[in-house]
Amino acid sequence: MDSKECMERGRRYIMDTYTRFPAVLVRGRGARVWDLDGKEYLDFLGGIAVCNLGHAHPRVAEAVARQAETLMHVSNLFFIEPQVRLAQLLVEHSFADKVFFCNSGAEANEGAIKLARRYFHDKGGESRFEIIAMDESFHGRTMATMTATGQAKHQAGFNPLLPGFRHVPFNDLDALEKAVSENTCAVMIEPIQGEGGIRVPGADYLRGVRDFCDRHGLLLIYDEVQTGMGRTGTLFAYEESGVAPDIMTLAKALGNGFPAGALLATDRVAVAFKPGSHASTFGGNPLAMSAAIATVETILNDGILENVRAVGSYFMDRLRSFAEAYPVVKEVRGRGLMIGVELYREGAPVVQCAFKQGLLMNCTADRVLRFVPPLIINKADVDRAMDILGNCMGEI
Ligand SMILES: *Cc1c(COP(=O)(O)O)cnc(C)c1O
Repeated sequence: MDSKECMERGRRYIMDTYTRFPAVLVRGRGARVWDLDGKEYLDFLGGIAVCNLGHAHPRVAEAVARQAETLMHVSNLFFIEPQVRLAQLLVEHSFADKVFFCNSGAEANEGAIKLARRYFHDKGGESRFEIIAMDESFHGRTMATMTATGQAKHQAGFNPLLPGFRHVPFNDLDALEKAVSENTCAVMIEPIQGEGGIRVPGADYLRGVRDFCDRHGLLLIYDEVQTGMGRTGTLFAYEESGVAPDIMTLAKALGNGFPAGALLATDRVAVAFKPGSHASTFGGNPLAMSAAIATVETILNDGILENVRAVGSYFMDRLRSFAEAYPVVKEVRGRGLMIGVELYREGAPVVQCAFKQGLLMNCTADRVLRFVPPLIINKADVDRAMDILGNCMGEI
């Protein structure tokens, strides 16, 4: 198949749910990918915040290959050694005491919603099922997580949505006080909103949310599906605020591209899940767990977090001085290597131009250029990306 034929057949046989770049990516190495025609791209999208160690990372690839030759699947009716090892790693490096494994971000959030409801059910608070989520949030595409998602465009045409969700503006503590009722069980929040446009809350906001939850006896759920796994310069974004949740979800970069999701909780909350209350056929699968162990160990031991902070602040500085030269830029924001550049106009033409010139990124919330590159990029990669961005800003 050449690329034209591949795209034609793709359009014929695959449901039309994605707006795709006109390229067939076939190979990757570090922060670079190549298409079927041999064109090279600098990948500042990283599989949408997934390939945090870059493409074809040797340790992850080797772990998956070795596990595939040893044991690919057995079911959760047995103990699975790599699952135990990953759970211990995650617990030892987070607030949590227990982990449940699944396969994606939506599934992890679905599990978090179920756990919060079940926790109050078991305490006799059956009417406490309502979750307060944020406007412009993104939590997934299943019925529950789509309902939790605070963006009407993702919900259009799928009514009736699930009962038990309320939305308030992000970064607004007063709005939380007004939304709470005797039915509320939890607050669900991304420490930095990703799909909503890389929105970073004020410095004291998360502490305020934690205090609010404690005052009303609510659980705090962090969706770290995008912010987790080193993306913001700490293993988990919440560490920066010093404010721990009761429940946290992970997916995207957990397996560096091998599908894996996780739901973490304190013992106090986790006891609400008992044998039979929640399950997944593939969750915690040996292959996914091996990929994730290699990923977490590399993030922790190979200076990745230091690189995120150093290169992230270099990138941010370059973007800020760039913003001064282009009045179309409204704001540059983010943390670590999760960076958004909000424009006064639609971002899609910039993204298309960059694609043609060999730089991959995307646009979220219509006007926000989003950069979530592999965490292994260096300053020269940033310089290259800035050159292309400069060309494209000149062009539009
Ligand atoms: C991507 C994302 C999800 C959904 O993850 P899937 O693996 O696509 O289901 C949920 N929450 C956040 C914050 C995300 O960025």
